[in-house]
Amino acid sequence: MTLPLALSQNVVNLVYVVAAIGLILGIKGLSHPTTARRGNILAAIGMTLAVVFTFAAPGMGHYWLIAVGIAAGSVIGAVAARKVKMTAMPQMVALFNGVGGGAAALIAAAEFHDLAPLSGAVPGDTLAASMFSALIGSVSFSGSMIAFAKLQELLSGRPFTFPGQNVVNAGVFGAALVFAVVASATEAGIWMVLLLVVALVFGVALVLPIGGADMPVVISSLNAFTGLAAASAGFVLGNNALIIGGTLVGASGTLLTLMMGKAMNRSVANVFFGAFGAAPSGGGAAATVSAEGQTVREISPDDLAVMLGYARLVMIVPGYGLAVAQAQHAVRELADLLEAKGVQVKYAIHPVAGRMPGHMNVLLAEANVPYPQLLDMEDANPEFPRTDVALVIGANDVTNPAARSNPESPLYGMPILDVDKAANVVVLKRSMNPGFAGIDNELYFNPKCAMLFGDAKASLERLIAAVKAL
Ligand code: NAP
Repeated sequence: MTLPLALSQNVVNLVYVVAAIGLILGIKGLSHPTTARRGNILAAIGMTLAVVFTFAAPGMGHYWLIAVGIAAGSVIGAVAARKVKMTAMPQMVALFNGVGGGAAALIAAAEFHDLAPLSGAVPGDTLAASMFSALIGSVSFSGSMIAFAKLQELLSGRPFTFPGQNVVNAGVFGAALVFAVVASATEAGIWMVLLLVVALVFGVALVLPIGGADMPVVISSLNAFTGLAAASAGFVLGNNALIIGGTLVGASGTLLTLMMGKAMNRSVANVFFGAFGAAPSGGGAAATVSAEGQTVREISPDDLAVMLGYARLVMIVPGYGLAVAQAQHAVRELADLLEAKGVQVKYAIHPVAGRMPGHMNVLLAEANVPYPQLLDMEDANPEFPRTDVALVIGANDVTNPAARSNPESPLYGMPILDVDKAANVVVLKRSMNPGFAGIDNELYFNPKCAMLFGDAKASLERLIAAVKAL
């Protein structure tokens, strides 16, 4: 069956250029909260144009089958986007990313299956692109499924390691490369099947040794893999939209991975092969007396309410603990109360605060915190010397001064929020336990710093009651 209005390839390519502009402007828009919604819509329009006009491209067929696939995918996507909680977003991204990689691998396998019986007839560039898509797409699929299972706590978040692991993994990857070469040389389907199976095993082996807390970096890397697999599937099919779209995903995923690595002061190789997060390296912490005999100072909600009520500028520093406690609405309520008393309230957002890129922005946006109050690290740090109270809520590593001063610390070199430059620092957390990096925080022994122990939401509720009673 052909469509009544099949268009020439030139017209379709022209529309693909328009679609590509939509995707590029969309990604640009997503780089800021105020333009993100518009960016999303532009990208969606670009993608819709690309899909619709692909139907009218010469040589298309199986329209009903494709329509059923699109309908099923759209329903699943729409329901998932509405139902999935904000805290479960990383898992959903992992899942969707994985099926993208799997689809690219299947396209490569299907094209190989179609062309290979004409042995010797598959052009070299198609063969190379098919092998690349099959390999990278499969790795992305199985790796993303393991990342999903870790984030969903179906698997332990602890790194799964054994001696000689990197050598074994390199062997599995080497075997996949050999199968790709033999499949290209012989054009026999069995080698393609072996390539797919071994690449799937490699994806599992690659992600298992990585700690649950590093999963966001892993997912953005796998996202880049999926983009590259899709782009090379575009070469296999001769589809320009797929090449452009895949390349954009590949490039943005790579940039995000590098930016996150930089903000954590860790190389991507360290994330993949370092089994970070295996055990706390800070000596167990939990002590309220430092090695030098300094003790931490506690503060009551009533005293903190007075301190905040008389402040001119309060800088709220949210972290992972705020997300766990789901305390974003309580924070907003506290800020509203303080603003009503004439206190200026701002939020300092570290790029890797929380467990996924943009975690804090998303949480605070959910509680309707106005965007202009959210300061990036570069804008927040110059504000700390004139801040009366830095209120750190469930954040730890991103405030640790050892990152500036202690070359021995694993955090050394990571850019941090300079909360210790504020006149007063108050930290809301449950105990003296370390954060993700497993490192003690010397900030807590600073004479300017006081602790309000307890669950972030419960502490904020006590604080709100105390501010109301002022
Ligand atoms: P963090 O260093 O992990 O510290 C979070 C703190 O929250 C903990 O010390 C914990 O102390 C406290 N906490 C946990 N549950 C709480 C609750 N219910 N109420 C109050 N406090 C609670 O978090 P962060 O400062 O946000 O730093 C993020 C870390 O994650 C960095 O090391 C970063 O490199 C890493 N990371 C981030 C990303 C990303 O994309 N954002 C990706 C990968 C890794 P208690 O147990 O004492 O309460």
